[in-house]
Amino acid sequence: MAAAVIARCSFCAKPNTEVDTLVGGPGVFICDGCVQLCVSVIDGKPSDAPLIAPWEHDLPLEQVLQNLGPVAAATTQVQQNLAAWVGKARELGGTWAQIGDALGMTRQSAWERFGPATA
Ligand SMILES: [Zn+2]
Repeated sequence: MAAAVIARCSFCAKPNTEVDTLVGGPGVFICDGCVQLCVSVIDGKPSDAPLIAPWEHDLPLEQVLQNLGPVAAATTQVQQNLAAWVGKARELGGTWAQIGDALGMTRQSAWERFGPATA
């Protein structure tokens, strides 16, 4: 039986089944290959590199359009991950008021977003 896909790297979108290690953070994941790439970027970064958001770089439209799909896929995974964590909180007896409080929203908003009707 093939290994199950549990999550994908939030950077390169490779599933856990195609990487050696997938490290989990709060709703996001990074694979060993992307960690190595990050280390090389950090090591080669000039000390005076400007601090600007990735979308503020001078990029051609084609490259911006290529980024939209991966950003949307990462967003979907984060939303699914959040719903799974909320489900876990419910399994453990968490109330909608507690969940809403943890998410900075009302009990009603938490229930409308993650309640049984959305499952
Ligand atoms: Zn990766």
